[in-house]
Amino acid sequence: MTSLDQPALQMPLQFLKGVGPRRAEDLGQSGLRTLEDLLLRLPIRYENRGRFQQIASLKLGDVTSVRGEIKGCYLRPTRRPGFRIFEILVEDASGAVRVVFLNQPFLKNVLVSRQQVVLFGKVEFRRSGGLQLANPEWEILSDSEHGELIHTGCIVPVYERAGSVTSKMFRRIVHAGLQRLPDPLEDQLPQAVRRDNDLVGRRAALVGAHFPASGVPIDKLNQFLAPAQRRLIFEEFFLFQLGLVLRRREADSVRKKSCTIQINDRIRRAALNVLPFRLTSDQKRALKEIVDDLQRPCPMNRLLQGDVGVGKTIVALLAALVAMENGLQVAVMSPTEILAEQHYLNLEGLLRPSRFEAILLTGTLGVKARREAWDRLASGAAHLAVGTQALIQDAVRFKDLGLVIIDEQHRFGVLQRATLREKGFNPDVLVMTATPIPRTLALTAYGDLDVSVIRDLPPGRQPIETRLQTEGSRPQVYDFIHKQLDGGRQVYVVCPLVEESGKLDLKAATEMSEHLARDVFPGYRVALVHGRMKASQREEIMQAFATGEVNLLVATTIVEVGVDVPNASVMLIEHAERFGLAQLHQLRGRVGRGAHQSRCVLLHQTPLGEIARLRLEAVVATTDGFEIAERDLELRGPGDFFGTRQSGVPILRVGDLLRDKQLMEGAREAALNWLDSGEDSAPVLAAVRAGWAERFGLAGVG
Ligand code: ADP
Ligand code: MG
Repeated sequence: MTSLDQPALQMPLQFLKGVGPRRAEDLGQSGLRTLEDLLLRLPIRYENRGRFQQIASLKLGDVTSVRGEIKGCYLRPTRRPGFRIFEILVEDASGAVRVVFLNQPFLKNVLVSRQQVVLFGKVEFRRSGGLQLANPEWEILSDSEHGELIHTGCIVPVYERAGSVTSKMFRRIVHAGLQRLPDPLEDQLPQAVRRDNDLVGRRAALVGAHFPASGVPIDKLNQFLAPAQRRLIFEEFFLFQLGLVLRRREADSVRKKSCTIQINDRIRRAALNVLPFRLTSDQKRALKEIVDDLQRPCPMNRLLQGDVGVGKTIVALLAALVAMENGLQVAVMSPTEILAEQHYLNLEGLLRPSRFEAILLTGTLGVKARREAWDRLASGAAHLAVGTQALIQDAVRFKDLGLVIIDEQHRFGVLQRATLREKGFNPDVLVMTATPIPRTLALTAYGDLDVSVIRDLPPGRQPIETRLQTEGSRPQVYDFIHKQLDGGRQVYVVCPLVEESGKLDLKAATEMSEHLARDVFPGYRVALVHGRMKASQREEIMQAFATGEVNLLVATTIVEVGVDVPNASVMLIEHAERFGLAQLHQLRGRVGRGAHQSRCVLLHQTPLGEIARLRLEAVVATTDGFEIAERDLELRGPGDFFGTRQSGVPILRVGDLLRDKQLMEGAREAALNWLDSGEDSAPVLAAVRAGWAERFGLAGVG
């Protein structure tokens, strides 16, 4: 993005004092081409070098600043040929200390006797006895730029190195760059936004973020909470959010649905007719938000978030019903075969009292069945298609696709979503996720989606007890399972799939299943289900578990999402340390779905790695999926959280999604308020439009 008309900020860096072609090249390699680029590359941290220590009080290991006069200089050879040590003696009123510079013989022409210098470095032992300062940062008092110290004697910024450009050179270049800033400097943030959010001016922010005034607390700076830093971060977030909102509004104004959905009493009755229970208040609210969207002329673009088991399916189904009652078709896309199958069974069952027909479309369908499914969708005979990515194949045509529902949103990329959407004419889109997305990411990766949240669980659920246990307590765990089975409950045992020589190794799960059946629970029916089974076989076993015929189900992670067996009360996870946080939480959500007190046992090997321990502790600490998601994000970082490059996490220059998360929310609100305030916005909007997508590294509307 280019700034408002600020040619000074767009000055190429090679014209800056201290930057020759070589350094300009290195800076360019790090993405720094203009003065603005340079000034928006904030220090990675700050050091307080503002207090001078008395030389006489130096102690081994101190990292400190001293100030004194050079009393003598020596260049000494060492045993290594060509390797020389430059040494000076520096004295203040309290005493003197030796200072050594390894292999920098040129310093003998720079640091000379009787100069006043400031040094910052570490106090070390000297082989010949006593203490010395080794390779300190230095500054000569008499020739410091404009009489100010920039490397020592103040709060000093530390920069990440860019090629040959060291932190110290950076400091000098940035200092020179700041001298070139026009005064006053035009501000990208509208005045009302600055005022309402208590933000300092842009010029003061740029200066203060690089060379803070001496009174600014160093820990505030290092947490990036100082007003100067906050202002620059806010500015970036604000412009980002403004772009997202504009992009969304523009899309809404040009995209129109083929028909706008109507609601009437007949449709309300049809909905009540399929409803097997009373909706919770969150379900009602989410449904209302969705149905309101459906009735608008522009397509819905909504994310439905809610932990496993909160009951998203019924909400999606009711939305689907409304669309179908309006003569439109609906597609539900799941990331895996088994999830699609489960969804299909579920939805098909719920739809039975209605006149609508659901079909399943997956990759494992035989040629004949597939053709038949295609035909029924194209002719409009089938109203609801549930499937995997098989739904987005070219050959799949709908008569009139009006609503697209995408399950487990984060597993699909932007392109896959778009492909499915293009099978209709600007259809409504509802994406569902059981992996709650931390608020900050929801505001970025999905910033152009509206969000509905279901937090409350259906009535009668008991909180799940979660226990962390080591291999040593396996007998007690089995005892507990025995009691539960005797009481009529059912049990999941989940084994991780181990990736070995490129092949999924099922041995562990198979052996576990045989061992449990033969040696541990001989009186009960134990079955094994895994992802490499034929779909039909898998379904049979899941079905047998659902009806209670199978008492204990050994599974690989495919029970992760979707399966619903309210009688199951124990989830035993083997090698819990190998699972991701979200996965553990999802697995736990398989139990506690009925009226019975349920327990999740995380069996782990010892010793535990640090991150694995933090993950397991987080699962024990809370059953709130949103908290888990925040923790997961902290442990993994934003890039990994979604796992794909096209995930829509913006490239940020100043801000950090994790560190500055509370600012993103404020920036979003500010962007919305400001747009709605109707204040003359042309210059800021122009700034946002010019290269917004490029700057934040985002593709078009997702
Ligand atoms: P998820 O959000 O994980 O997709 P589901 O839609 O599978 O959750 O619902 C979990 C279980 O809760 C299902 O058995 C469903 O029938 C049941 N359920 C959902 N909503 C309610 C409700 N309002 N009252 C009672 N049971 C409900
Ligand atoms: Mg579900």
